[in-house]
Amino acid sequence: MKRKLVLSIDYELFGNGTGDVLRHMVEPTERMARICEMFDMPLTVFLEVEEYLAFNREREALTATLGYDPAAAIHAQALDLIRRGHDIELHLHPEWMGAVLEHDQWHLRSDKRTVDSLFDTAVEVSAFIGERKAVIDEIYEAAGSSRRVRGYRCGAFCAQPGGKLLMALSEHGIVIESSAVKGMVRKDGQVHLDYTGVPKARRHWQVTLDVATEDTAGHVTEIPVYSRMGRRVQQLTPRRLLAKFFGNVPKRTQQEMVRQFGMGRTPASVLRFLVQQFPIKLDFHNMSSRQLLRWIREVPPAPEGDLDVIVLIGHSKEHFDDANFTRFLVSVAADPALEVVSMSEISEMIVKMGSVS
Ligand SMILES: [Zn+2]
Repeated sequence: MKRKLVLSIDYELFGNGTGDVLRHMVEPTERMARICEMFDMPLTVFLEVEEYLAFNREREALTATLGYDPAAAIHAQALDLIRRGHDIELHLHPEWMGAVLEHDQWHLRSDKRTVDSLFDTAVEVSAFIGERKAVIDEIYEAAGSSRRVRGYRCGAFCAQPGGKLLMALSEHGIVIESSAVKGMVRKDGQVHLDYTGVPKARRHWQVTLDVATEDTAGHVTEIPVYSRMGRRVQQLTPRRLLAKFFGNVPKRTQQEMVRQFGMGRTPASVLRFLVQQFPIKLDFHNMSSRQLLRWIREVPPAPEGDLDVIVLIGHSKEHFDDANFTRFLVSVAADPALEVVSMSEISEMIVKMGSVS
């Protein structure tokens, strides 16, 4: 059986609301989709619906300043991608809920980082998820497709605590959650993530209350974004620095990213930061095609009973190198042991496995 790769991208502006929908979302995504099509491979796009809804609310003001309607641009692209066989799944950054546009700048609610923190009750979370899923499902319908949203990814991988969220996903037929990153730990202000206790050897597992804890009775399958442990210093390649800090990235965002990295300013704190062990994600914008391939081939075989699936990640706003992405897909296409599938296809395989066992 071939090893299955999911080429997923998060489709959104920068985390602080800066950026431009055409430049950082629509144009790079179109380039990636065309490259995928050269090899007959599907791209899986996690569309940030909360942000899309904010653009919808401020349609008039945004169209007046930008000279185009960002919500309409996103809608048109999603429709087009579905018709061309690509996959659109649900992604949410709760900070965009109730975001306010003032003097052409978005102000987000940085105190709300998880869907569970938005509401007190599971009923409210379920209604919230149902409405956002419906936004994408309507686009599937408009495209004449019978497909629907089957996968979900949390903004900034913040799936803990997520008991209410997981219940809501299951109620709305979203069978795959893909936010866990093995080995990731983040504790700052509102964010408390600890993905060190996940089932280490597994490719995917059933969950009910927590994405990091297996519950064989769970109705949602967690498929982590693939990662392996390394030191930050290994990641200091020109490619990654270019993707993260130059050209495409607004100045205010660059400064905030340096602060968020927690690197500090003294030589000792910078050194400590660089040699820290942390999970390096299989990210096709931050790694060379050769390194991606090597890491994919080095992944041990899936344990008995698991699908041999590996979820890669990218971000539309970090895509600038068509040549590297093309080289990667050339190598994948030439490797008889690998195949690219969509998250939607994975969800069908997972459902089938569940009904057999
Ligand atoms: Zn995101």
